[in-house]
Amino acid sequence: MVRGYEVVIGLETHAELNTDSKIYCDCKNQFGLEVNSQVCPICMGMPGTLPTLNEKVVDYAIKMGHALNCHINRVCKQDRKNYFYPDLPKAYQISQAEVPLCQNGYVDILVDGEERRIGITRIHIEEDAGKLLHSDKFHGCSLVDLNRCGVPLIEIVSEPDMRSSAEAKAYLETLKSILQYLDICDCKMEQGSIRCDVNVSVHKPGEPFGTRSEMKNVNSFSAAVRGIDFEINRQIDILENGGTIEQETRRWDDAKGESVSMRSKEDSQDYRYFPEPDLLTIVVEQERVDKLKEDIPELPNAKLLRYVKEFGLAQKDAAFIAESVELATLFDSCMAKGRFPAKSYTTWILGDFIKYLNDNSKTVSDTKLNADNLTELVELIENKTISNAGGKKIFAVILEQEKSVKELVDELGLAQVSDASALEAIADKVLAENEKSIHDYKNGKTNALGYLVGQCMKASRGKANPGMMKEIVLNKLNNM
Ligand SMILES: [Zn+2]
Repeated sequence: MVRGYEVVIGLETHAELNTDSKIYCDCKNQFGLEVNSQVCPICMGMPGTLPTLNEKVVDYAIKMGHALNCHINRVCKQDRKNYFYPDLPKAYQISQAEVPLCQNGYVDILVDGEERRIGITRIHIEEDAGKLLHSDKFHGCSLVDLNRCGVPLIEIVSEPDMRSSAEAKAYLETLKSILQYLDICDCKMEQGSIRCDVNVSVHKPGEPFGTRSEMKNVNSFSAAVRGIDFEINRQIDILENGGTIEQETRRWDDAKGESVSMRSKEDSQDYRYFPEPDLLTIVVEQERVDKLKEDIPELPNAKLLRYVKEFGLAQKDAAFIAESVELATLFDSCMAKGRFPAKSYTTWILGDFIKYLNDNSKTVSDTKLNADNLTELVELIENKTISNAGGKKIFAVILEQEKSVKELVDELGLAQVSDASALEAIADKVLAENEKSIHDYKNGKTNALGYLVGQCMKASRGKANPGMMKEIVLNKLNNM
C-alpha cells in the first residue's frame, strides 16, 4: 500500500542470449566490436535474403521455460511485428505473437524473508534491433550501428502479480540469477543484456485494477525501482486531484528522475502481426524438451533451501550465496570436501571476501580464491596453527596470488606459539608485573582475567595460541 492505494506491477523483461551467432544468420553475436562490422545481408534486411533459425536460441528459451515452470509449446511459429524505425532495416521484427514458445509458468521470489509467487505469462523468442548513436560530431545527425540487429532475445512477460517496487526488484534479481545459472545470458546490465518495460497501475483497496501506464527505457534494477516509485506517486497525485489516468506509453529518464509521455492509447502502435512466411513452423520433439529439462542445474531457490536445511545457514546468508552462481559454486565445492562445517567457510565468504569483491569491483573469478586454498586456510585456523588475525593476512594474499597457504605461514611469520613451556614463561612474566590485576581477580573482578590474557598476547606479539594462553593464565591464578 502506498498512500492508501494498492499498487499493481507487471514486467516485460528482455534478455539477450549468449549464443555464438545471431538468431537468423551466422554473424557473430558479440558486444563492443567495431560498429557495423558484424553484419551481413540477412541481418541488414536486404531484399531477397532468407533467415535461418539458430536452434540454440530455441534450446536456450526452452531451458528458461523449464526454470520458470512453464508449459512448452512444442509447435509454434514466428511472426512479423511491423514498425518503422531507423534501427530496424527490415521495417519488421521477427517475434512470436499468439503462441509463444513457453507459457503459464511461475517463479518464487523472496522479499524481506517472505516467499511470493509471481506468475509468468509467456516467454517468446525474437530478434533485437540495431542501436542509434547520437553524437555532436555529426552535425546533430543520428548514426546507426547494426551489429545488434538479429541478436537473439527472449522476452519474459510476468503476470501483474507484483505489489511494490521492492517486489519488482526481487523478481528481476531472481530472473538474473536464473539466467546466470543456466548460462544463457551474460547479464551485463551496463551493456543492455537485460532490459525491461514496466507496467504500473494503482487502485483503492476493494476496487478493480486501475488504468495502467507502460514505462520503457528502464536500464537497471535500481532505475526500475526509481521509475516504479515515481510512477506510483504520479498516478496517485492525479487521482487525488480528481483526474483520471490515461493509458499511455511513457519513457523513463533516469538522469532527470522522471517519466515523460511517449504516446497515448489513440496513437498506440498497431503492429499488424502476421506469420513470418520465410521461416518454417518450429517443431520440437518431446525427447528434446525432456533432455533440456534434465540439463537444468540446481537453481538458486533449491540451493537456498538446501543450504538452510543441510548446513544450517541463516536464510539471509543462504539467499546471498545462492543468488550468485559463482559464490554458490565456491561454497558447494568447499562443502563437498566434507571436512569443516559451513560456518568455517561462510565466515570468510560472507565477510572478508564479499568486502574485497565490493571494494575492488571484482567478481569471484577475478580472484585466486578456490575451495582448495580456502580449506587449507580454514584447517590451519581450526588446528590453531595460526590465529584468526594471521588468517586474515594470509587471506588477503591468496585472493590475488597463487601461493601455498602453508608457505605463507612461514613467510609472514604467522605460526602461533602452542608450546606450553614458552607460554608458561610469558604468563609468569606478565603476572609478576601485574600484581594489582591478580588482586582484583581474587576479589571477584573477573574481567581482570581478560586484561591479563591480553597482556600475555601482547607480550607474545600476537603469536600465542589464545585458547592455550587463557587456560594457562587461569590455572596460575587459581593456584595462587
Ligand atoms: Zn548477419
